[in-house]
Amino acid sequence: MENSKHDFEPLRTLLSGELSTAAPVRAMYSTDASPYKIVPQAVAFPASKEDVTQIMEWAKEHKVPIHGRGTGSGLTGACIGSGIVIDFKRYMNKVLSVDVDNKTVTVEPGVVLSVLNLELSKYNLFFPPDPASGDYCTLGGMISNNSSGARSVKYGATIDYIESLKVITPVTGLMEARVYSLSGTDKKSESQLSVAGESSELEPNDANVKSLLSALENLSQEDIRIFKESLPDAPKNCCGYRLERAFAKDNSVDLGALICSSEGTLALITEATLNILPLPEERLVTLLNFSSLKAMSKAVELILPLDPSAVEVMDHVFLNLVVKNYPHLKTYVPDNTVAQLLVEMDGTKEEAEAKVSALHNLFKKHTDDLTGVIEAKNTAEQEQLWKVRKSALPILFTLDGPGQITPFIEDVSVAPAQLGVYLEKLHAIFEEKGLESAVYGHAGEGNLHTRPILNLRLQKDVDLMAELADKIFDLVSELNGSISGEHGDGRLRTSFLPAFYKKSYGLLKEVKTIFDPENILNPGIIATPKNIGPLIERQDGLTENQSGLTGNQSESCTDCSVSMTSDLRMGPGYKTRQIPAPLGGSKGSLARAIEKCHGCGNCTTPLENIPMCPLFKATGIPQSSPRGKLNIAQALLVGDFGREQKDEEEIIDYLSLCLGCGLCEINCPSKVETSQIVNQLRSVLKNRTGMPLKDKILSLLSQPLPSIAQPFAAVGSVMNKSSLFRKFLETTTSISSKAPLFKFAPVKLSKSNESGKRKVVYFPDIYAVSCDPSLGYKTMNLIHKAGYSVYTNPDLIAATPGFAKGDAQSAKAASHIVRKILTKAITPGTKLLFSEPTAMRTVLHEHLQFFVKKDEQQLSKTITEISTTVTDFLLQAIEDGSLKAPVVAPSKNTTVVYHSPCHLIDTKEEKSAVKLLKMVGYNIEPLMKRCCGLAGTFGLQRGEENTAGYEISVKTGQPLFDDIIATKADIIACECSSCRLQLEHNTNITALHPIELLFKLY
Ligand SMILES: Cc1cc2nc3c(=O)[nH]c(=O)nc-3n(C[C@H](O)[C@H](O)[C@H](O)COP(=O)(O)OP(=O)(O)OC[C@H]3O[C@@H](n4cnc5c(N)ncnc54)[C@H](O)[C@@H]3O)c2cc1C
Ligand code: SF4
Ligand code: SF4
Repeated sequence: MENSKHDFEPLRTLLSGELSTAAPVRAMYSTDASPYKIVPQAVAFPASKEDVTQIMEWAKEHKVPIHGRGTGSGLTGACIGSGIVIDFKRYMNKVLSVDVDNKTVTVEPGVVLSVLNLELSKYNLFFPPDPASGDYCTLGGMISNNSSGARSVKYGATIDYIESLKVITPVTGLMEARVYSLSGTDKKSESQLSVAGESSELEPNDANVKSLLSALENLSQEDIRIFKESLPDAPKNCCGYRLERAFAKDNSVDLGALICSSEGTLALITEATLNILPLPEERLVTLLNFSSLKAMSKAVELILPLDPSAVEVMDHVFLNLVVKNYPHLKTYVPDNTVAQLLVEMDGTKEEAEAKVSALHNLFKKHTDDLTGVIEAKNTAEQEQLWKVRKSALPILFTLDGPGQITPFIEDVSVAPAQLGVYLEKLHAIFEEKGLESAVYGHAGEGNLHTRPILNLRLQKDVDLMAELADKIFDLVSELNGSISGEHGDGRLRTSFLPAFYKKSYGLLKEVKTIFDPENILNPGIIATPKNIGPLIERQDGLTENQSGLTGNQSESCTDCSVSMTSDLRMGPGYKTRQIPAPLGGSKGSLARAIEKCHGCGNCTTPLENIPMCPLFKATGIPQSSPRGKLNIAQALLVGDFGREQKDEEEIIDYLSLCLGCGLCEINCPSKVETSQIVNQLRSVLKNRTGMPLKDKILSLLSQPLPSIAQPFAAVGSVMNKSSLFRKFLETTTSISSKAPLFKFAPVKLSKSNESGKRKVVYFPDIYAVSCDPSLGYKTMNLIHKAGYSVYTNPDLIAATPGFAKGDAQSAKAASHIVRKILTKAITPGTKLLFSEPTAMRTVLHEHLQFFVKKDEQQLSKTITEISTTVTDFLLQAIEDGSLKAPVVAPSKNTTVVYHSPCHLIDTKEEKSAVKLLKMVGYNIEPLMKRCCGLAGTFGLQRGEENTAGYEISVKTGQPLFDDIIATKADIIACECSSCRLQLEHNTNITALHPIELLFKLY
């Protein structure tokens, strides 16, 4: 990855935030949720408006483009580019104030929508626009894209809620974007040209603001009128600038509305004051099923006068996919259904109920082609109905095959009355091309989403992409619709804008010229200033307008500088290097696993209630997010980094920010197994650079400790109390002197308990073998009491540290031992039980990767089927009576707080410990979905602010420690030994395995 020609150091020193030109950081910001990739020269993380101003001034002076960025969940490639990407989410992410009386909120641009709504819910208020990406997209991105969502039919789009913005433009510097009078006679308005209440901040340049307003005033009124007349019939249109809203009234301009939807091409947003609304008291959902598209389309028109808050449509391809993958949802899709409408009514309880009743009355009369009406009677049923609507995208993302679902015609909007016609013709085009693509979206506003599966590595699919876009956008034009209802233009659709706006496209160029005459802001997107070629230098030596227009679109666009089919992330020239998978797996599987990440940004959610990357939530460091690491992984795959040892060590550091918790896999729509991928890559890189001693030492824990060494380890544990010894240990092994350490017992777990009729195999792992054998014996005792013979072996140790450190030798050796023992021990009907959730995950996700021969694959399948946790097994044993209820009751005065370890969150066993302990009489408070941060060897190491180690581990666990302390519990119950060690150390509350609490009662 080439370094920039510019010296960014002087700029970096001016910022209170950060700026990086490191190749891995640039790799992380080279993509978004679109099919494009452009590596920037630098990435800035401003911490204030002043920082943003400094970046703007520097960029102007050096003629380097700037690209604002929130989460990068945009689907059009509008936040990537060759200059400086500005990440507003990392530091400028605060809700600044809520004015409950005036119902406004003031935010920094990096605030995530759901975080804002969580804050507003305290006042029973909300910010209504609701893109499906709301759990991770930012307000800055929403404003720039004029985002909206399922409820836009009632609540409109972001543009409808902008009170005022603070923005930085290349010509004015910091200014307020709000409604300004243009007449020149409104003295009050003129005096307001300076930014209200900002005297302590950067002085806005009033003269420049005035000249910007005057330039806008000089735009031809006739052109504006023609622009307004040229707008599509569709209720939603997100193409180009919203001039009809900016110039809605004579003699005034609404700069907030003009900047909204401008995709970072007119100004950078540094603050927004937004209007908010009271939360509706009730939301009620009904599903309507139809056997024809025409009837569905007609129904939408009938429903709209009832004031629904959402009218969502799903077509037959979508529904077939849902039913095939989730057969239990079949009850919601009657036979012969070709399209389904999900209708939501909201308001006060009475209002919502009255609307639902009106809806039912309506469809008692209009039964044509209606195959069923299903009403949700409670919140759980409502969630089920929404689940039908939300379930297709994750299925589409996990479909096997070389192709990927590709956004480009994904956001068409037509008048609702045209829905049926549009869908019929769209499917006819798909059929002609031999494609099948699910269609769904916001029927109430005729806004339909569809993403055909294409393999853009093949030129023929790239050509097909261009051909489909041309055909479908022609169809949209025939129906007087919009080619984008809510996602925007970006690199996908800018080249279609001249044809879309025809004569009025020139007006967009004039507006761009007024705000950004030197084409600094997101060049190439939406419009290029007049009299300036879009000749911005890029790192790859091209200029922005030489990127090679392809497809028919080039004919329609002689003006614009980006093309739908250039800068593809995995286009026809895409080549990957052969990267081995030293930690097991088949050839090529690693590359495919990496490429599955489509960049949506879902894994960057800061929300506590969503099981997603705890490390990113705690630190915000870009490489701690799954997407960050996967982008680095892909850069490695395509050979973007050199092969110098120094670089490789740096890359290992970036990839080391992973706890291996696996939470990202649960909510990632593509189910990318990030921790496995980074383990593999660290292994590849360490094979080249040599395995560091500190990693070798920690990965020794993957191997059984020889019995003879056990007493020495126990003596060593006693020395752990000595600060001198810990300092020595830190210097020699990098094990942090502050980290809590396991103590070794003098004697290992050794005996099985093999009397009993039915057989189970107990996998104790290192903790129950070498640290606390009594836990192993108690476990076996309880299983035995349930009537089972228990076989165990002290060599059944999962190589978790070996895999985590990328130590292929250790991992392979341990896998060999595990396979040998289990091959003999497992007989038909055997269960494989784990007391350590991490060991279960490591065996199922990592060890089995080494089981590649035919007979090993059968064993692998059996292990997957028969593995379960001890707590789940004993819960069932008590429930079915094979284990008698305990004889002693727990003390009434003892309160237990239960922490659910990350490695159990995605399994059905998650709550079995809670159920079990409650069943036997414990007073137990469950805390779900938080991470302790230790993650085995991750938190043991000496670390620094931004690298793996003890400091980050404690930062990650702190919210959980606080919650536990707040419960005032006497005991922490948790299955994971690492979590217990960390929690006890940081809360001073005794932490026990649930088995120990159970055992006490027998
Ligand atoms: C699964 C999925 C579902 C989606 N569903 C919807 C949906 O229902 N409705 C919808 O409207 N969109 C949807 N989107 C698209 C996208 O999430 C939204 O457009 C979102 O608002 C983008 O926010 P962001 O923070 O990710 O912005 P980014 O993608 O980072 O940026 C978007 C644009 O905003 C600009 N920008 C960002 N911050 C600033 C700033 N401070 N100043 C100036 N310019 C800035 C960027 O330059 C870029 O042009 C979806 C995306 C995905 C992946
Ligand atoms: S890892 Fe998954 S959730 Fe994260 S960006 Fe990639 S696809 Fe989206
Ligand atoms: S495994 Fe855990 S720490 Fe690693 S990327 Fe996924 S969620 Fe983050």
